[in-house]
Amino acid sequence: MYADIIVDITHEKLDRVFQYRIPTRLEGELSVGMEVIVPFGRGNRETKGYVTGLSDKCNYDETKVKELLDISRSGMAIEGKLVALAAWMKEQYGGTMIQSLKTVLPIKQKENAKVKKRVRLLLDEEEGKKKLDFYLEKNQKARARLLAALLDEPILDYELVSRKLNITLTVIRAMEEQGIVALESEQVYRNPVKGERIENGITFTEEQRHAIQRFWEDYEQGKRGTYLIYGVTGSGKTEVYIEMIRRVAEQGKQAIVLIPEIALTYQTVMRFYRNFGDRVSIMNSRLSAGERYDQMMRAKEGKIDVMIGPRSALFTPFPNLGLIVMDEEHETTYKSEQVPRYHARETAIARAEMEHASVILGSATPSLEAMYRAKKGEYHLLEMRNRSGMQDMAEVYTVDLREELKNGNRSILSIKLQELMADRLEKKEQIMLFLNRRGYAGFISCRECGHVIKCPHCDVSLSSHKNGKMVCHYCGFEEPKPSVCPECGSRHIGEFRAGTQQIEEIVKTLFPQARVLRMDMDTTRQKDGHEKILSAFANEEADILVGTQMIVKGHDFPNVTLVGVLAADMSLYSDDYRAGERTFQLLTQAVGRAGRGTKKGEAVIQTYSPEHYGIVTAAEQDYEAFYEEEIRYRELMGYPPAENLLAVLVSCEDEPLLEKGCRYLKEYALRFRKDAQMDIIGPASPGIGKINDVYRKVLYLKAERYDTLIRMKNYMEQYIEVNPGFQKMRIQFDFNPMNVF
Ligand code: ADP
Ligand code: ZN
Ligand code: ZN
Repeated sequence: MYADIIVDITHEKLDRVFQYRIPTRLEGELSVGMEVIVPFGRGNRETKGYVTGLSDKCNYDETKVKELLDISRSGMAIEGKLVALAAWMKEQYGGTMIQSLKTVLPIKQKENAKVKKRVRLLLDEEEGKKKLDFYLEKNQKARARLLAALLDEPILDYELVSRKLNITLTVIRAMEEQGIVALESEQVYRNPVKGERIENGITFTEEQRHAIQRFWEDYEQGKRGTYLIYGVTGSGKTEVYIEMIRRVAEQGKQAIVLIPEIALTYQTVMRFYRNFGDRVSIMNSRLSAGERYDQMMRAKEGKIDVMIGPRSALFTPFPNLGLIVMDEEHETTYKSEQVPRYHARETAIARAEMEHASVILGSATPSLEAMYRAKKGEYHLLEMRNRSGMQDMAEVYTVDLREELKNGNRSILSIKLQELMADRLEKKEQIMLFLNRRGYAGFISCRECGHVIKCPHCDVSLSSHKNGKMVCHYCGFEEPKPSVCPECGSRHIGEFRAGTQQIEEIVKTLFPQARVLRMDMDTTRQKDGHEKILSAFANEEADILVGTQMIVKGHDFPNVTLVGVLAADMSLYSDDYRAGERTFQLLTQAVGRAGRGTKKGEAVIQTYSPEHYGIVTAAEQDYEAFYEEEIRYRELMGYPPAENLLAVLVSCEDEPLLEKGCRYLKEYALRFRKDAQMDIIGPASPGIGKINDVYRKVLYLKAERYDTLIRMKNYMEQYIEVNPGFQKMRIQFDFNPMNVF
């Protein structure tokens, strides 16, 4: 027998399968996914690798095939099913097979499991009593004490026996030898979730019932698919997920629930816990290695039905996966920033197809990708338009900051917002002020007329660079920064900047009586900083919470009745094609924070571009209208999801060599394009052109068909592999990137 092995060395040149002979003693034991030790290279260095296939045919010269040494006893095995998923990921997203294998194996090392020992009585009552009399007679006090206790309770915790009864191991061993007791040990897996299971008995709304039924009818008939739940915040999506999972679990299948790490709060976990008790587990970055290992083992052994976690929980090794739920499907953190740069949505759908499971995507503001596919009929669309058991959506006011300037108000807080803030402080209701800092890269805009300078070729904002120039991050176009506005001639043109700290100070000056909390990168750096601030605000220890986009997610604050968005434009004019979508999502989420309790909420959106469709539609909370406008723009410009984009990120310490490499790659791509529909743009300088003295450039390939881009990636990978000129360069692929580089 022979095994195909992927050797654990990340190097493009070694990204292929090596065949090894299986020693007879391991023949029955070895299976696909196991970590093994093999002799590698000229020196036969002991190297680790993973088995990706087994066969009885040798594909190479029999005399040159080496024998594998052993199964690695400390390493974790990858589920056979996940090996197939890894192969799919390598093909879809690039990188090496070993990188993909390691991605689907979130826990690499075995960890010591906690062992619980206990003492069991082996005698029946009559024999036991006889023995007890014997011990008492012989004045063997320790033995008598243990036996008496065991006659009351035939299994005792070892801890209790040794601490409370004061009985040594020697005594237990002696009694064990006489066949009176047995010392047993059981592996216990740590359980990070604690709480009580409660039946929650809610009555579903008509919309909830419809969504559940639609899914369940298919499921019962053995039909699997992808469903997009487009449901406004508070429409009861989480309750729907729970019900769907409950039904799937009743059929003996398991479910994975993906939630962005930032929204994975105690509140959310407890909602699942109340329904599934001990059968639910979580994965997050706060768990220790041992705890993470235990959760994987519990899943593998069928001890749980539901795993909740961020992106990597997708690779939970369930034996009989039935459902994958992806909440807040539009979140950018579902895209990995490490090779392979996979998207959890696509990968979840691929895994579900391989294992005959279904996928539920949920969002109040579905990504353009998901809605586009739903409209094309690839996903089933389930809508929930009404809030359940909550107030109606907040009233929204849009404030034009250009008018404020004209009226002499140079403050970051508009008159309208100041009035409403004073009113809330009076009523002892809470306020959230949100500064949208996504587009920090610094676009150039006019404070008088709101004009923003854009690339004439790509229709995204130009970014300000230190050298006094403005640059397009897609095509490389650049021009000098203007000193007056090209639209209105005003000299109030420049980079748009404001920070949360500044705002906190302004608020304190204007409202000295208010208690203010600030949440941003600085104040959440320490462990649990994030949770601490949120719970302080939830306990009404402050009147106003000032923060970045961190504050708009996850938590429910029933006493918040006013939300202020201070500069909606900041993300609108960040330098990538998803800027409009991100702005719409953030604004909708921010507005959705107001009025979640018994009182109706209000929201103020301050902007220099009140006429921009992203802002107009967010203020009206009209997703449909936003989608129609946005998809038209994507179609016109050929951006995803209308077309597909592949970023080829090249980095190198030697700048001239980097430029040469990019030129060669571009020429190569042009040559191989042949008659395929594909554009090649750049190379452009990314936002950060140099990191730690390593220069970076990026090429963009744009094509209608995704598989055209995969083919180009495969060609380029081969070209890079055989051409020694690329050895000093690092080349990464990113399909439909979430961020501009
Ligand atoms: P979403 O996930 O869509 O934001 P949730 O599932 O969190 O919505 O529901 C919002 C609130 O409404 C929660 O407190 C939830 O318990 C409650 N809720 C949901 N569905 C119902 C229902 N059918 N009846 C009563 N309350 C409900
Ligand atoms: Zn102007
Ligand atoms: Zn451009």
